[in-house]
Amino acid sequence: MAVLEILHFPNPILKQKSRPVAKIDPTLHQLVRDMAETLYAAPGVGLAAPQVGHPLRLAVIDVTPASQSKNLLVLINPEIVSTEGECTWEEGCLSVPDCNEEVKRNKKVVVRYQNLRGEAEEIVGDELLAIALQHEIDHLDGVLFIDRLSPLKRRLIKKKFLKKDKDKEGKTP
Ligand SMILES: [Zn+2]
Repeated sequence: MAVLEILHFPNPILKQKSRPVAKIDPTLHQLVRDMAETLYAAPGVGLAAPQVGHPLRLAVIDVTPASQSKNLLVLINPEIVSTEGECTWEEGCLSVPDCNEEVKRNKKVVVRYQNLRGEAEEIVGDELLAIALQHEIDHLDGVLFIDRLSPLKRRLIKKKFLKKDKDKEGKTP
């Protein structure tokens, strides 16, 4: 197992639409194990494969509080099949560090996906799980939570991150 490097905005891989997982093989199992370790090390609530440089429709989520035992949800080729209600939730993202903003989302979602044995499953999410499901599935479509903010807020955040990127470049000899 290994903790993988998490790509940060504005890395172009985060803007790509990911391709479906075609084969659930040992390589995919390994990637899932590494993504789980990366998620728990961060720590975070969810992690999508493109965030670790693999543009595949795959994500892991664990909304269990840190004090309780782990309960990892592995989502292969997930899609939202129905939604209900609206809510606003303060979100953050491992790919957009030090940034938390309120985002409008659906309050409840039903998601269909495949598990690691390739079987079709469905999960109903509300509260934090509903938010995490929508946030991670957005990643698979190349959408970050900051893309869902007002144009003005988005511009301010982009400016901050582009500047950070430049500062970093400046320091490399
Ligand atoms: Zn994220």
